[in-house]
Amino acid sequence: MNVGILGGGQLAQMMAQAGAKLDMSFMFLCPDPQACAAPFGQHLCAPFEDEEAKRQLAEWADVATYEFENIPAEHVASLEQQIDLHPSSQALAVARDRLKEKRCFRALGIPTAEFMPVDTLDDLKEAIAVVGLPAILKTRTMGYDGKGQAVLRRPEDLPDAWTQVGEVPCIVESMVEFTRELSIIATRSRTGELAFYPLSENHHREGILRLSLSRQGHPQQSTAQSLIQRLLNELDYVGVLALELFQVGDEFYANEMAPRVHNTGHWTIEGACTSQFENHLRAISGMPLGATDAPVQAAMVNLIGLLQDETTIREFPGATPHFYGKTERPGRKVGHINLVDNGDGLEAFNERLAGLLQLAGENALAELLEPAK
Ligand code: AMP
Repeated sequence: MNVGILGGGQLAQMMAQAGAKLDMSFMFLCPDPQACAAPFGQHLCAPFEDEEAKRQLAEWADVATYEFENIPAEHVASLEQQIDLHPSSQALAVARDRLKEKRCFRALGIPTAEFMPVDTLDDLKEAIAVVGLPAILKTRTMGYDGKGQAVLRRPEDLPDAWTQVGEVPCIVESMVEFTRELSIIATRSRTGELAFYPLSENHHREGILRLSLSRQGHPQQSTAQSLIQRLLNELDYVGVLALELFQVGDEFYANEMAPRVHNTGHWTIEGACTSQFENHLRAISGMPLGATDAPVQAAMVNLIGLLQDETTIREFPGATPHFYGKTERPGRKVGHINLVDNGDGLEAFNERLAGLLQLAGENALAELLEPAK
């Protein structure tokens, strides 16, 4: 089967790696001449709005998908008119706009922080009277890895924050004092079959994900599943969906969803029976879904800015490096390391994880780490 992907970054690359064993071939439409997925298929180097490139992609591919949500939904819709494309451009339109997304959560009874739309500095002042301080101002679209956001602590922070986000349509939301950040990743097939991965516990620094841990047997697993299930069914969704959650005591507040495979699910490559990448491909191509069980404790450590030596990583039993073939640059995701419990117990797992975090420059996180239980 031929699969067309809008985007050619590491998510497209890992889909292609997973698709090889399903006998799939790939074509990537990506404006970046250095697209790191390119060695894993054919690369159409063109902007997403290039209708001729999309026609070529649609002619070659049997099914199409996308690997990130910062593509205007209309560019995806024009491809969707020519070929089976999942998740739908309608799901993308909701997920890429924080206001539509939060309204969708609320309409489905999914709890969120207090939020208000903001189009002007005056709107922001009025909104703060409702949501209170501290709060976070976020651009409605194009935000990722903490970009397009400003924290508001005092009333005098408002004008600078408004300038900082570029005076574009935003939402402002109250700051949630969360106990921890979690995400639930699920897949829905073309026939409506559902599969859920165990929750991931996620740790960020400077707005960028550093560490995810699988949390099998989490007491609120079924609550998280019921929240994401509402979205999957409402959006008639096909493919992998990720929902980021703040845990406050026993409750969840939804932060955002991503209509694609997700960084917090990278541990599923070695840690689950079927990876999120394979299940996304299975879903969009009409195949039955694979089992999402994660038999042992797993973790993922992101490599940000700097690569690490493969031999050193392999000295940690149960660790597998994944390099994306990108050049090193500060703040850039250049790879990740997956770690699974290889049978010698959680204490040894936690020690190895702390060692890998130190290797990745996350010393503070290594010390703070709440042991996997
Ligand atoms: P986002 O781009 O919305 O995923 O936000 C990036 C990170 O900022 C999240 O992973 C949280 O750590 C933090 N954050 C975002 N929104 C809130 C909020 N309403 N309350 C507390 N922390 C937040």
